Amino acid sequence: MEGIIGFDTTVFPRLNYKEPNEFWEKIEEIKAFFRENRGELESCFVSAKKVEHAFSVLDPFIESYTSRICPYCGTVCCANKFGFPEFADVVVFFALGLEVPRYDLSVNEEDICQFIGEKGCMLPRPQRPYRCTWYFCDPILIQLDLGPAKTYRKFIHELQSLSGARGELLRNFYSVWSKKR
Ligand code: SF4
Ligand code: SF4
Repeated sequence: MEGIIGFDTTVFPRLNYKEPNEFWEKIEEIKAFFRENRGELESCFVSAKKVEHAFSVLDPFIESYTSRICPYCGTVCCANKFGFPEFADVVVFFALGLEVPRYDLSVNEEDICQFIGEKGCMLPRPQRPYRCTWYFCDPILIQLDLGPAKTYRKFIHELQSLSGARGELLRNFYSVWSKKR
């Protein structure tokens, strides 16, 4: 099927939230790379439009489940360590024209995520680490499974579209970035 292949993000350096100086330096480096190579990164911005669209379709769909199920959850999955981004997440933020959230790196990584508000995550979905969109706990998977088959198929299709568009964006970025490092 066209466009469902993601990207192996392990080719990028590790963004280590346990080393604050190094963490912020790497983010500044990625930001500068976008600023200095805008022309060559044009294909990334084209892919970013597809990522943006896929998020806009998926977000209300996922929220319709999480808003019903999460308030009753006794084992909230959002811990600080999951709210910190990978290198690839930051690349996607900049390609989408988003700012990087101002993470407080001094928090306990096991505590509930600093971005949790009364109504769930306070960050817009495209500004969250990708894993936050991909993680589905058992209660949510069960509800998806119990719902209409057509809805489930649409959901899978949209997830594949997001994965394909994000993979394309990262591949395009990598082809420019790997030549210039
Ligand atoms: S996604 Fe699942 S594990 Fe996480 S808070 Fe919601 S119900 Fe709980
Ligand atoms: S979804 Fe939001 S609150 Fe949950 S771990 Fe991700 S960034 Fe934090």
